[in-house]
Amino acid sequence: MTAKASPNALPRPSGPGAPSILDLSNDEIERLVAGMGEPAFRSRQLWRSLYKDAARSFDEMTTLARSLRSSLAESFTIDPLTTVMSLDSKDGSTTKALFRLPDGELIETVLMRYERDGHRRPRRTVCISTQAGCALGCTFCATGQQGFSRQLSAGEIIAQVLHAVRVARAEDAISSRSGGVPWPVPVSNVVFMGMGEPLANYDNTIEAIRRLNDPQGTGIGARRVTVSTVGLPPQIIRLAAEPFQVNLAVSLHAPDDETRSQTMPVNRRYPIASLLDACKTYVARTNRRVFFEYVLLDGQNDAPEQAHKLGRLLKGILCHVNLIPVNPTAHGPYRRPGTRRTAAFRSALQGYGVPSTVRMEKGIDINAGCGQLRARAVNQHG
Ligand code: SF4
Repeated sequence: MTAKASPNALPRPSGPGAPSILDLSNDEIERLVAGMGEPAFRSRQLWRSLYKDAARSFDEMTTLARSLRSSLAESFTIDPLTTVMSLDSKDGSTTKALFRLPDGELIETVLMRYERDGHRRPRRTVCISTQAGCALGCTFCATGQQGFSRQLSAGEIIAQVLHAVRVARAEDAISSRSGGVPWPVPVSNVVFMGMGEPLANYDNTIEAIRRLNDPQGTGIGARRVTVSTVGLPPQIIRLAAEPFQVNLAVSLHAPDDETRSQTMPVNRRYPIASLLDACKTYVARTNRRVFFEYVLLDGQNDAPEQAHKLGRLLKGILCHVNLIPVNPTAHGPYRRPGTRRTAAFRSALQGYGVPSTVRMEKGIDINAGCGQLRARAVNQHG
């Protein structure tokens, strides 16, 4: 908690140093509003204004009395994000934003737009960060090459989604003025796949999911939320006991410990066998499939025998494999395999009854891979 719930002891003065009200939990908001002498329904109105309406200023919260809005504005800010850079891919499908947090840390958020595809409705997916930097040091990841700075608060995590909601609504407003059909919802999917390891920031990640999932909050169904992890077995087992039906994506990237440890140092602490044990426990407890992410690195982990090894490893596990030809980073020595080699890998997996899809990353032309924009900004501006 960054603020006290009494009107006489409200936190720091407003302005750039004021705390964000997004860092208060629902209970804390209730106590704050009650402490200001307001009835309980005002806290629900405030909550809805923050998370459903994605209000960016207290002035926009016209359901609240002007005096309450003024009191809140004297003590809190709302949005902790300042946009440093925003880039659109050439095809317009992807926007990547670099944000500065109040203490100067830089984080990235990516908004991806998917047009109608057969029976699938058009949708927007936002990829969010959970840490400034990352301590896990995966060698193929620009964030991993920059080191860890700090955990993001739940408010800083969800602020990225609220930002995307505002961008999406503005797009829909422009489109409807020119006769276009608005998309079904501003943002339909959220992936915890940006900078950082979400399960290493467990409590704030879970609190952010709770607010996303809250029908009185952002209202994004848990099944449309994906938590992507490098594979921390204790936290995977903990996640299985949470009441949300979120999707779990595990970055596997290699079929054996030797290869995996070369690119993912975390594997030395949690080898593949312990990771898969945790995944099997997760499936048994939740009855939900696990998504395995496998970044294909040309000549490193994409050989036919490695595909067979992976097939044998995953055979019988309720899972789906996403094969992702690598997005070369500014620093990484990796190359993307050709389409024939990728297709052969996939077909080998099929032989073991392991379902898979090849996923091309969006926004290659705007450094949309995790941590690339931050790396670019840091390199340019020191
Ligand atoms: S891939 Fe994820 S866990 Fe690995 S270094 Fe990058 S941000 Fe951290």
